[in-house]
Amino acid sequence: MPHDGEEFTEPPSDPALRVKALESLLVEKGLVDLEALDVLIDTYEHKVGPRNGARVVARAWVDQEFKLSIQKDCSAAVKKVFGFQGRQGEHIVAVENTSKIHNVVVCTLCSCYPWTVLGLPPVWYKSAPYRARLVQDPRGVLAEFGTCIPEEKDIRVWDSTSEVRYLVIPERPIGTEGWTEEKLSMLVTRNAMIGVEFAKEASS
Ligand code: FE
Repeated sequence: MPHDGEEFTEPPSDPALRVKALESLLVEKGLVDLEALDVLIDTYEHKVGPRNGARVVARAWVDQEFKLSIQKDCSAAVKKVFGFQGRQGEHIVAVENTSKIHNVVVCTLCSCYPWTVLGLPPVWYKSAPYRARLVQDPRGVLAEFGTCIPEEKDIRVWDSTSEVRYLVIPERPIGTEGWTEEKLSMLVTRNAMIGVEFAKEASS
């Protein structure tokens, strides 16, 4: 941590340096094209991103039939209704928060994540402490995110794998009756779809 009144720049992290080195090597060997790489990163950072997931959640909140279809086969329903499909999004399972159950997602082995609906994973999702501690003490880790889960609510931790990715459907905030899907989707954050936060409140 920087001391008071003192600022300095940290060197890039070891993984960042390794990625850079790998990237240079792949480009040098002609195995990847830098422009293509930039397009791919831009797509997952800015175009698909978590707004896709937010639209899925908002639709599930207003359309019971759609909600049932994503509970049955999320990847297929999302592809059919929104056309979202692609890398790492083939086997998405939707898990719904209720008044009794709170769902939260982790990948204990690495960083498996539903790119198709959430874009690129946040840095903390890939961190060793999150991956190790969420499983041991979900209530404590969620509290650190400012999310206090009442004792009477069960917490289910879902461990992503290369085969299965999870999308949390947060509870619909109170006071949003009659809202349009578009307006509802603005309450759905990336973190709410990972399960470390609730959807935003209607007044926010
Ligand atoms: Fe993983």
